[in-house]
Amino acid sequence: MRVIQIPLLRDNYGYLLVCEETGEAAIVDPSEGEPVLRRAEKEKVSLKAILNTHHHRDHTGGNAFLLERLSLDVYGHGTDRDRIPGLTHPLDDGDRVILGSLTGRVLFIPGHTRGHVAYLFENKLFCGDTLFVAGCGRLFEGTAEQMLASLSRLKALPGDTLVYCGHEYTEKNLQFALTVELNNKKVADKLTQVRALRARGASTVPSTMADEWETNPFLRWDSGEIQQNLNRSFRGVGSDPVSVFAKVRELKDQF
Ligand code: ZN
Ligand code: FE
Repeated sequence: MRVIQIPLLRDNYGYLLVCEETGEAAIVDPSEGEPVLRRAEKEKVSLKAILNTHHHRDHTGGNAFLLERLSLDVYGHGTDRDRIPGLTHPLDDGDRVILGSLTGRVLFIPGHTRGHVAYLFENKLFCGDTLFVAGCGRLFEGTAEQMLASLSRLKALPGDTLVYCGHEYTEKNLQFALTVELNNKKVADKLTQVRALRARGASTVPSTMADEWETNPFLRWDSGEIQQNLNRSFRGVGSDPVSVFAKVRELKDQF
């Protein structure tokens, strides 16, 4: 399986997934159609499907353009039937997506939106705006409790899982991470690496799940340092995972 990362719009990433045995391909989250079509032609792959993680326009904006030119299957969660342009395959948790000789698994992970899914092919996780490198999505249509449940499922994946997220937000996320966990040396080290990558215009995605365990404040509700910092500044946060997660998310919204 080959993954081709396509920078789209200002800071989105689309991903072309290619079955190398058959040359068939799927595009995860085509924010725009034209650059995706151009890339698929350049790579000489046969585009068969769109895999949308959620309905936001910066993830589905290219659906119409592609569907005007190609006959494609369009996958997304069933609740987004009316919000994902051209949806043909409404999904639910545990469903399979077949691409040539590849099989992906669908994880229903609401919180950012109520119909958000991730696609897992081998050890590659395409998680849209739920989990970012060192961050997570805003709670637009879900509760902190839901998002925590979704992130907990992702966190339980093996450490060598590659995290392909929907946006290049890493540098700002790590700057924020340091404000809640100043003594986390892994965060400081990663910020240094990430700044070097960004300085030459390189992508910081994918990350690994093991890296996220160590540096992502939204997976670190058990961190003693984060809990102490929150409880020093805010009354009644305590150590309950939902409460810690909700406060970190609230602080990030204001960052
Ligand atoms: Zn979104
Ligand atoms: Fe987005």
